[in-house]
Amino acid sequence: MDKFVTTGRMPTPHERELLTILIEEAAEVQQRATKMLRFGVDEVQPGQPYTNAERLGMEVGDLDLMIDRCLIAKLIGTVAIEIGRRRKAEQLAKFIQTSPGAVDDPSRELVVWGFYEGERAVFTQGSKGEHELAEPVTAEQVVQLAKAAGLSAEKTP
Ligand SMILES: [Mg+2]
Repeated sequence: MDKFVTTGRMPTPHERELLTILIEEAAEVQQRATKMLRFGVDEVQPGQPYTNAERLGMEVGDLDLMIDRCLIAKLIGTVAIEIGRRRKAEQLAKFIQTSPGAVDDPSRELVVWGFYEGERAVFTQGSKGEHELAEPVTAEQVVQLAKAAGLSAEKTP
């Protein structure tokens, strides 16, 4: 049998290092997202001060920086990223099974997140529950959403 020998250009040492760190950061996003699923959005793991949500945000930031570095190194391109974003948005529009405002766990304090500006808004009501937002929104939009649902809303620092 003929052995396959690639004709593709192999990554340079610098490109290999960038790819290695990109892989590491993608894995750290996965790890923190699974911790949030298992232990909660606002759980603070002992030995450090940050919630799982804050830590996931920081890992996404790490990954975002590595994406920038891979763009600079021309390992990836902005056109492909934009195609991927649009394709994913179309897939979500068709296949996502939940919607913003779906009450997930009535035993918990109602927490609504505005990820878009890196802010968060926290709401409380008599019967507690967590609202999940499928789309990124600003904290102001979250406040309006909560008020429209008849909840008392307050933007937290
Ligand atoms: Mg990291």
